[in-house]
Amino acid sequence: MKDFYTLADLEKWDEREIRLGVIGDPVAHSRSPQMMNAALQHCGLQMQYARFQIAPDELEQALELFASHKFVGVNLTVPHKVSALGLMTETDDVAREAGAINTVRFEGEKRIGSNTDGLGFARAIHQEFSVDLRDLRVLLLGAGGGAGRAIARQCAIEGCERLVLVNRTFAKARELADELRSSFQEARVLGPVARLEAVEWKEAALRFQIANADLLVNATSLGMKRSDPPVLAASLLAPHLMVYDTIYTPARTVLMQAAAEAGARAANGLSMLLHQGALSFETWFDRDAPIEVMRAALL
Ligand code: NAP
Repeated sequence: MKDFYTLADLEKWDEREIRLGVIGDPVAHSRSPQMMNAALQHCGLQMQYARFQIAPDELEQALELFASHKFVGVNLTVPHKVSALGLMTETDDVAREAGAINTVRFEGEKRIGSNTDGLGFARAIHQEFSVDLRDLRVLLLGAGGGAGRAIARQCAIEGCERLVLVNRTFAKARELADELRSSFQEARVLGPVARLEAVEWKEAALRFQIANADLLVNATSLGMKRSDPPVLAASLLAPHLMVYDTIYTPARTVLMQAAAEAGARAANGLSMLLHQGALSFETWFDRDAPIEVMRAALL
């Protein structure tokens, strides 16, 4: 199997064993194949899962080719989760409300979109910090992206104490706050701060919000490339925080390192990868995923 395949490979496809995959741009960092292939082998399913490097303007054609090559399904990663929504023939409620898709199931010519990122995230937070989302005040960086939207919606479903949405393009965070407003009507004893807010990505605003948050989440794509600047100034981090970086390559991300130096607890996105992947597996095969096999393969 190659490290990754391209649209040109799909156009002359002869890898009959490969019937599942992850589509992204970039995609070489993805560790989904190692956990998915372990699960497929463990369950005696005679097929393989591969990476596909697909640019935004190639997505529609790639989805048509996957369907015509009788793929079971694909996962979507950066930057396809939001744009794929308009390319589905059917979308489940979770994906529609999140406004993003991370799992596609092919049924003949049908492309059925769903989203396992939100529930995968909630399970990951429980695994990493032994707390439930509903008990937390969450500050979410990257609230405009596919993963960020799914995480924000999950925070609303679970009724978290407080949710602060931050995004480089502020209008997207504000729109998302408007969509989620009805889930945050119930009063909580929080002092002077609102339960749901969209705030501008500015240092002073972030400093105030971090003082009123328990969990800080990076759902931006900042940190995926070595050349990326830090997501936040290290001086903004404080010891009371739990920090969850959805990025998992490198294993100790720049944000995690800064969090540890500030005395905060931190985890990378491997646990979210595991749980969203297990849920995708269940979507495709309608059976329990062998989660311990998948976890061992990732570690
Ligand atoms: P996406 O839809 O392309 O969204 C990217 C997000 O990052 C947007 O909010 C974007 O803000 C923000 N962003 C991009 N460049 C930025 C910059 N220079 N400064 C500040 N913000 C910037 O991507 P996605 O699919 O949501 O993925 C986002 C991240 O989540 C990625 O790092 C991905 O690896 C991670 N993820 C991890 C898992 C897991 O299982 N661990 C699952 C899903 C996603 P704008 O709206 O302003 O463009």
